[in-house]
Amino acid sequence: MKIEKHTVVTVTYSLEVDGEFVEKTDKENPLTFLAGVGMMIPGFEQQLVGKETGDAYDITVLPEDGYGTTDPEAIIDLPKDVFKVDGQVQDDMLVEGNVVPLQDQNGTPFQGVILEVGEDTVKVDMNHQLAGKTLHFKGEVLEVRKATKEELDHGHVHGPGGHHH
Ligand code: ZN
Repeated sequence: MKIEKHTVVTVTYSLEVDGEFVEKTDKENPLTFLAGVGMMIPGFEQQLVGKETGDAYDITVLPEDGYGTTDPEAIIDLPKDVFKVDGQVQDDMLVEGNVVPLQDQNGTPFQGVILEVGEDTVKVDMNHQLAGKTLHFKGEVLEVRKATKEELDHGHVHGPGGHHH
């Protein structure tokens, strides 16, 4: 069957950005997703629609259909206190270009990149690291099947036999 909304799709992919390899999945550890529920970046899903098992694909996703454009408001100055562990500022962590783990107000973890280290503050870029980038995906469609009612209710893919993972 062809990839369309509410199918469960298994693919391999290799991602390149600016001609450089970023990440890949192979047949032993492929990517499986539920199409049409906003799980994947829009430009990836949309361009796979209509493909079927065995099809190779080679697609380019612009930033606005990928991880978004770079948001200047996501570059902020954080007090150094944020980086305290056991009451101590972790100076060895505060190096320009370092990726640091942070949490938003809801406790959801994300990563920021340190742009500049000041006296009392640290300038951190909280944009997704692939924001503003054109993404180039290549891979193969391994399997396409209809999602079960339960998968659609839950909004995610269940493993073999319909079990939760
Ligand atoms: Zn579930």
